[in-house]
Amino acid sequence: MIYLKTDEEIELLRENNILVSKTLAEVGRHIRPGISTLELDRIAEEFIRAHGAVPAFLGYQGFPASLCISVNEQVVHGIPSSKCVLREGDIVSVDCGTFMKGFVGDSAYTFAVGEVAEDVRQLMEVTKEALYKGTAQAKAGNRVGDVSAAVQEHAESFGYGVVRELEGHGLGRKMHEDPGVPNYGARGRGPLLKEGMVICIEPMINMGTKAVVFERDGWTVRTRDRKPAAHYEFAVAIRKSGPDVLTDFNIIEQAINN
Ligand code: MG
Ligand code: MG
Repeated sequence: MIYLKTDEEIELLRENNILVSKTLAEVGRHIRPGISTLELDRIAEEFIRAHGAVPAFLGYQGFPASLCISVNEQVVHGIPSSKCVLREGDIVSVDCGTFMKGFVGDSAYTFAVGEVAEDVRQLMEVTKEALYKGTAQAKAGNRVGDVSAAVQEHAESFGYGVVRELEGHGLGRKMHEDPGVPNYGARGRGPLLKEGMVICIEPMINMGTKAVVFERDGWTVRTRDRKPAAHYEFAVAIRKSGPDVLTDFNIIEQAINN
């Protein structure tokens, strides 16, 4: 069941996703060699609560933390840990969710830890570009497959693996609503995008094989070949005027480029 949102509901979703963006910016300011992913999680939880929201991931299907933090070959759903200490050259995908005023925010960003190798930097850039290309297709009258194909084509044109097992989703009062938004697919296929829909587009792109392994911790997803993966996520409202991105990467990028 796809829930169409009113303008007022979309503004509450925007508020949540701006808070997520600010939280990711706060996390990004602290990303450096030597910090553990558990410390980053504490920073995020404190920040979210100080802004009148609760972390949407904490306790979600039993997830034990406020952020999913996935380092290098981890694609998504990494569990923050005091044992996971960031090193120069790592990349770290941070996925964050908030719950406030009855609605959920959900966005993600992949950060570099210091200087990263050129091929890894390209993986990050291309994954973000794939997100932008998918987002450009998120308009009324298009279908989910138009978004999916745009993401897939861009990533695969660089020889990257597009993860099949996980996908984007509708966003509203619940974190995961219909429709599913895969990162691969065919133009003109899938559910029709209508004004008032809010979806999360979240390419998970691997430098090597698209194949992933689900770790025995019950959460972490990593690449089978242990090459790095990147993950960026936007919440997007479908408006008459076109895609209305509710997440703000400028907030994050201003924070980390200072
Ligand atoms: Mg997310
Ligand atoms: Mg999501």
